[in-house]
Amino acid sequence: MTASARLLIVGPQGSGKGTQGVRIAESCGIPVVSTGDIFRANIKEGTPLGQQVTAVLDKGDLVPDELTSEIVRDRLSQDDAADGFLLDGYPRNSAQVAHLDAFLAGRGESLDAVILLDVSRDESIQRLKLRAAEQGRSDDTDEAIAHRLDIYEHETAPILEVYGPRGIVDRIDGIGSLDEITERIFAALAARGLRLAA
Ligand code: AMP
Repeated sequence: MTASARLLIVGPQGSGKGTQGVRIAESCGIPVVSTGDIFRANIKEGTPLGQQVTAVLDKGDLVPDELTSEIVRDRLSQDDAADGFLLDGYPRNSAQVAHLDAFLAGRGESLDAVILLDVSRDESIQRLKLRAAEQGRSDDTDEAIAHRLDIYEHETAPILEVYGPRGIVDRIDGIGSLDEITERIFAALAARGLRLAA
């Protein structure tokens, strides 16, 4: 059993990684660090960072790597992330993987597990369209959805080729009820000896 968990959850937009990430983090007693949430909160509050990234998010493009990595480094340096964290939405490309590796190595740390939520492109699009109708997120237009899924396929999915050989990737079938998927993730983490609340 380890006393901490340093986790990353990866999956296409609409895979349910936000919801599952919160559940896992609560069970492990670790904070969720979601770059999308950090950007959206800054946009809502009208901070200088928010003003800088509004147009980027609306188009579904990526915020520049160095800026994003700096925000994550700051967040991971806070006390509540000292013994573990769950990253959601970062790293999103190989440059960000390198930034994260360097930062964690500097603290003598590394990721314990990468949870891949496996959902097809068609399923993602259907779920995102439903979310667009329900929540009206400004980056859930048809065009931005397609663009974000393209970026996921071309830039984000390849990071698994870096993490795969490290033996830390757990591929989880993302089709099923919320509870079924949570159970699958918990089982995979428990198999790694990671501590979860009863
Ligand atoms: P998400 O909620 O993870 O889908 O992120 C929403 C948006 O925030 C993305 O479409 C990007 O514009 C931006 N974003 C989130 N995470 C990152 C990241 N790691 N690198 C660059 N841009 C990001």
